[in-house]
Amino acid sequence: MEKFCCDNFRFRHSGDSRMGLNFRIIKLSPEFILRAKYKGNLYRYFISEGYEKLDELKTQFIFMEFCPYCGKELKKVYQSDAFVNETNHGF
Ligand SMILES: [Zn+2]
Repeated sequence: MEKFCCDNFRFRHSGDSRMGLNFRIIKLSPEFILRAKYKGNLYRYFISEGYEKLDELKTQFIFMEFCPYCGKELKKVYQSDAFVNETNHGF
């Protein structure tokens, strides 16, 4: 079992994407990484209001760098594909 920074984050991350105020972790797509020759952190972390499909995201979402609950830097905790919520996106 993967280790989360705190139970509050785990709860928001594990919920359905349609649920309001959920936390999502995505990995940049291979195409994006190649196109941008990107060498940094391959994961992104955001808060959403809930959505059906990420590519059709009509709602607002906010990228975050630190856990809003415990303050840990997310890229230091979540560096594994095991945490990824979505692969169906174009970026
Ligand atoms: Zn946390």
